Amino acid sequence: MESVLPIPAVPFIPVRDSSSGFPVRRIYCVGRNYAEHAREMGNDPTRETPCFFSKPQDAVVPGGGEIAYPPATSNLHYEVELVVALAKGGRDIPVAEAPACVFGYAVGIDLTRRDLQAKAKDKGQPWDTSKGFDQSAPISPITPISSGGWRDSGAIWLAVNGVEKQRGDLAQMTWSVAEVIAHLSGLFALAPGDLIFTGTPAGVGPIVRGDRIRCGIDGLGELEIVLL
Ligand code: MN
Repeated sequence: MESVLPIPAVPFIPVRDSSSGFPVRRIYCVGRNYAEHAREMGNDPTRETPCFFSKPQDAVVPGGGEIAYPPATSNLHYEVELVVALAKGGRDIPVAEAPACVFGYAVGIDLTRRDLQAKAKDKGQPWDTSKGFDQSAPISPITPISSGGWRDSGAIWLAVNGVEKQRGDLAQMTWSVAEVIAHLSGLFALAPGDLIFTGTPAGVGPIVRGDRIRCGIDGLGELEIVLL
């Protein structure tokens, strides 16, 4: 069938040390996956099961760079996260088979309109406007498993204008990467091209126009954005 409109472009994320790109299908996110962050948001980490939400495919900002301060918020927050890029998918993937689905890892920021999220939580409304807005998912180039190795420990950090705000370790995740994939595949049919933001350590906070946000994960490089 011919399209009545130009076909929307699939976003590509650069792959480290390669001229090839990773095509994005869906963007899933995990909430409250580090106990200290769950506590700072007023939740009890011992009683939580994984909390999932999503962002639109075209919310990615490959390689970071300049990002426009979004409309309709006066409390934009950063959340540095390990991002898992899937090469294989499926339904009901057992934990033991989940590592074989991973293409590689990246550093991402789950930008959040915290004021809209607080209102949504109060009213039991969806998180789309607080989490799934334009340019809400800046992401570094992807490091393939084949060159970076399996990542379940290592420092994860974020600094605003040179001042460190978040520092944690991937080993502190309540649900491991393999467990996240297993849970998620019980809710959705996962597929090649899917990205999973795996949650943020404690220390989230507001950013304003002109701020320079730099973050990184051991072995996966760094990501920088500037808010316009
Ligand atoms: Mn998050």
